[in-house]
Amino acid sequence: MSHRIVLTADRTLMSSYNGSMFIGFAACFPRVLPRWLYKRVFCPSQPHTRGEVAVAPAGLRKIQAALLRAGIPPEDIAIAHPEHLSKVIDSKTQVVGINSSDPLGLGPASSTFCSLLGRESYTAYFFRRLMRDRALRTSRAKIIVGGPGTWQLSNGSTRTELGIDCIVEGEGELVAPKLFMDALDGRPLPPVVTGGPVPVGDIPLVVGPTINGTVEISRGCGRGCEFCNPNMRLVRHVPMDRILEEVKINIRTRRRITLHAEDVLRYKAKGMKPDRDEVVGLFERVLELTSEVGISHIALSSALTEPNLIQDLSALTGATKGRRHLYAQTGIETGSPSLVSKHMKGKAMPFEPEEWPGVVRESFKLLSDNRWVPCGTLVMGMPGETREDVEKTVELVEDLRQYESFIVPLFFVPLGELKEDSFFKPESMLPEHWMLLAKCIDHDTHWIPQLMDDLFAQNRLSRAKSSAMKLASWYMQRRLKESLELMRVGKDPRQTSPGISDLEDFQEEEAGRAHS
Ligand code: SF4
Repeated sequence: MSHRIVLTADRTLMSSYNGSMFIGFAACFPRVLPRWLYKRVFCPSQPHTRGEVAVAPAGLRKIQAALLRAGIPPEDIAIAHPEHLSKVIDSKTQVVGINSSDPLGLGPASSTFCSLLGRESYTAYFFRRLMRDRALRTSRAKIIVGGPGTWQLSNGSTRTELGIDCIVEGEGELVAPKLFMDALDGRPLPPVVTGGPVPVGDIPLVVGPTINGTVEISRGCGRGCEFCNPNMRLVRHVPMDRILEEVKINIRTRRRITLHAEDVLRYKAKGMKPDRDEVVGLFERVLELTSEVGISHIALSSALTEPNLIQDLSALTGATKGRRHLYAQTGIETGSPSLVSKHMKGKAMPFEPEEWPGVVRESFKLLSDNRWVPCGTLVMGMPGETREDVEKTVELVEDLRQYESFIVPLFFVPLGELKEDSFFKPESMLPEHWMLLAKCIDHDTHWIPQLMDDLFAQNRLSRAKSSAMKLASWYMQRRLKESLELMRVGKDPRQTSPGISDLEDFQEEEAGRAHS
């Protein structure tokens, strides 16, 4: 069957990552794992039927819903698996819409891991493979790219090289339908279109299941960190009945739901303090439909402002009784109050910037006491960061060691109000940055065995898969051993130690093992 519109995304976005956003960070790893190990174990593919997927990334589902709302017939639209485009794109296809989150591997996680290890990220590799797909290259269809990674495609020659006709920056639901209609009618497309914040009433309901049962409950954040996407400024909360509709659509195929917001704890909050009744009410209603409810992101200051809410959610979801853990991503960013004051005052609110390190410590304790496992990100190299600032972050990470968690240090990437600044690079790392990196790796390797056991049991991962992941983790730790010793004393290990730059040998060793 022919489709005039084909929607797709690169291979890293077509995976549930075994139901874990922690494993989802693997998309931003440099390509050091053998391809089969990465694709089969870390990033297993969504199944497809004749190239079409039944479960799709939430971003593509929203665009599909916006196109349907604009009157485009359902049979005109297909959501395709990126590695099977030839089964879906044909001579009748007039537009291909692509969702991208990190097309050139310039996002904070990819640029950090890859600049340290000197290889490109899986995100960049698979996006390039998608854009070079034969069916796409030989098609006459117009190519429109949207998603949170389009800032990486702002350069006109990059777009031309990749064959992109138009990029949509920002939110797409209001601007995409006109662009797709123009393409269907043969009208020219502008190279760049900016979609502003979509009013909550105009955010359409998805019409099919999303990967990991992702259901958006709020959009935007309102804390106003200078390095964040400006679209985050305006917070909008999706009404309960619409959330429940999307939950019902999702649980037709799988029971697991992930409630998505920049801060799930502030669902329907009027200010920075969570509205306990609203959040508890939401969880109660969703739990009437399914027992498996997860959370995407929370803010540590929200957790500490309303500690009873954390207890409530643990009790409601069965975490208190030891049946499961609750996992959530969160931003620690720094242990330095002066950097908080300079670039992200809103992150600490309703607390003061000076209180931030204490907020992080106490909220990690609160979360741990209630069987939550946070994955906290840090930013290294923020404009104006001093040696003393980094030392404060090192101290903070030391104090968090006692709590089961994962800490991901990221290089500063110039975005939002700081977009005129420069990318932070390994060459600019102070000895304290290397020590911080070592602290984070030590923290994570301390917790990884426990994390893996908990996560794999909760997500019912097969023994073969969990063994393969444990083997890969053990191998990486072994190869990093010498480098870590240098980093712990503030030295750049890239020139003197083989481990950090030669991880690609794993591919050869594994290939050799496979042939022997
Ligand atoms: S708290 Fe997070 S989502 Fe909100 S503005 Fe800051 S970085 Fe962005």
